[in-house]
Amino acid sequence: MPFKSTQPDIDLPTNITTWTWLFNSPASPLSKNPPSQLAGYTNVHTSSRIPYNLVKTHTTHLSTALVKHHGLRKGDVVALFSPNTPWYPVAMLAVNRVAGIVSGASPAYNVEEMTYALKTGRAKFLFTVESCMGIAAEAAEKAGISRDRVFLLEGKLQGFTSMEELLEQGKREKQQVEEYKLKEGERNGDLCGFLSFSSGTTGLPKAVMISHQNVIAQCLQIAQITPSTHRKILAVLPAFHITGLVHALHLPILLNAEVYMLSSFTMKSMLDTVVRYKIGELLLVPPILIRLVRDPIVDQYDLSFVTRFSSGAAPLSEEIIQLLKKKFPNTGFKQGYGMTESCSCITAHPPEKYDYEHAHKVGSICASTEVKIIDEDGKELGVNQPGELLARGPQITMGYLGNEKATRETFNIDGEGWLRTGDQAMVGEDGMVTITDRIKEMIKVKGIGVAPAELEDLLLGHEKVEDVAVLGIADEWAGERPKAFVVLKRGGGDEVVGREIMAYVRERKVRHKWVKEVEFVEEIPKSASGKILRRVLRDMAKSGKRGT
Ligand code: AMP
Repeated sequence: MPFKSTQPDIDLPTNITTWTWLFNSPASPLSKNPPSQLAGYTNVHTSSRIPYNLVKTHTTHLSTALVKHHGLRKGDVVALFSPNTPWYPVAMLAVNRVAGIVSGASPAYNVEEMTYALKTGRAKFLFTVESCMGIAAEAAEKAGISRDRVFLLEGKLQGFTSMEELLEQGKREKQQVEEYKLKEGERNGDLCGFLSFSSGTTGLPKAVMISHQNVIAQCLQIAQITPSTHRKILAVLPAFHITGLVHALHLPILLNAEVYMLSSFTMKSMLDTVVRYKIGELLLVPPILIRLVRDPIVDQYDLSFVTRFSSGAAPLSEEIIQLLKKKFPNTGFKQGYGMTESCSCITAHPPEKYDYEHAHKVGSICASTEVKIIDEDGKELGVNQPGELLARGPQITMGYLGNEKATRETFNIDGEGWLRTGDQAMVGEDGMVTITDRIKEMIKVKGIGVAPAELEDLLLGHEKVEDVAVLGIADEWAGERPKAFVVLKRGGGDEVVGREIMAYVRERKVRHKWVKEVEFVEEIPKSASGKILRRVLRDMAKSGKRGT
């Protein structure tokens, strides 16, 4: 029997879009509060703030301009290529308001990576900021997006339409475009609102299709276990990643919570923000928690008002949990666990478990969600028995865009709606889940997924490389980083070639994909069908063989 959530089921609306739900329904904070009581998004660098009633107005004007002046249609994909800024959710919600699809991309991408994201996501429009425009314009051209469809989220630049101009265009229209209403028989679970990239259990990054219903479900699941005191949210996690997208952009509207947005991360800017706005609960990822206990800069701040840390997106070691407890003895702790394919959390800590005793667990099963643990033969396992975790619930996303094979292998694997996570886990007697290992290929660098296949494809293009396999190895600061096992065409290999290979990756990929080590081997262990035997490689890496 699957493990079921012990939380009451969520009451999930199925005939409404995220925009209508957040701004025009009884669930909306706009229905429950006078305008003066509405929270909003704040840019902590400029202190400018957009309250949620203004977000509603802006998104109405912006979507009107996009439809009437620029030809946006239902189902069109709009890429957002930007660091966090309050204008990011404005663009996102405007696109969703008229049933367009938002596709997020890391602002650190280079031209090739951005072109891949635009092409794989089939983007027709692009929003960006001045600092990303060089890369954005080149990638847009390569992906066939004309310049008049590349917009600026904030600021001004000759030759590109700015947010200010777009809002003006929309405002001038006598008749605003109506928000998209689902047709008779159409459900919000069938309406894709977002694309987010993930390599899933294997292969290259794929565009995960996330429905309006997935986002609404996840917001309701998390809101249900969020104390009403949670009124301030630190948005330091990037909006292009599922955790930032849902927990720092959508959920705060439902909770009527203030969002403090940092466009780039430094420990100083984060700590300054936390202290300035007295943010009591900090939603972070393990690499930042590691710095909280190790970086001496933290000692310059009085963080005594912080009541709780929240971690997710990657594993956090017991050592760091203990150090946190020691350094901040008056705090509580919680985790969330899930993946892009599950629109963030499958499990999360309920308030009664916000303590360090349960900190190494990833929480209990979210409302309206089931979990199954299976062994290698697919046999269901019981309490405290580790195996692969499968999940089923309203937050499980729609599949991979244009990739039926990967969709079949990951989603709905047995025709009964179960998502394969590629994570090894067990469920305890108390219903709490512990992640025991990662079975899938994905490497987690600073909480962001890196696909070994992407780096292997790249390195096979190096003139000296005959064969290669990449896997994650432990890194003190980033959690994990990629290591390349390389067979050279001429055999052998030394430090100079190792450095050359690392530089080759550095020149072509965003920082979190850079290779930490190269090890030369005579051959890559493979199965009879030619699949890399990653477990054998993992054991080789663990056995402490020296790399470059
Ligand atoms: P992503 O799609 O980038 O969110 O990556 C999802 C993967 O991150 C999961 O399948 C896990 O391997 C890992 N992950 C997410 N949250 C946690 C957590 N709390 N503890 C351990 N691993 C996690």
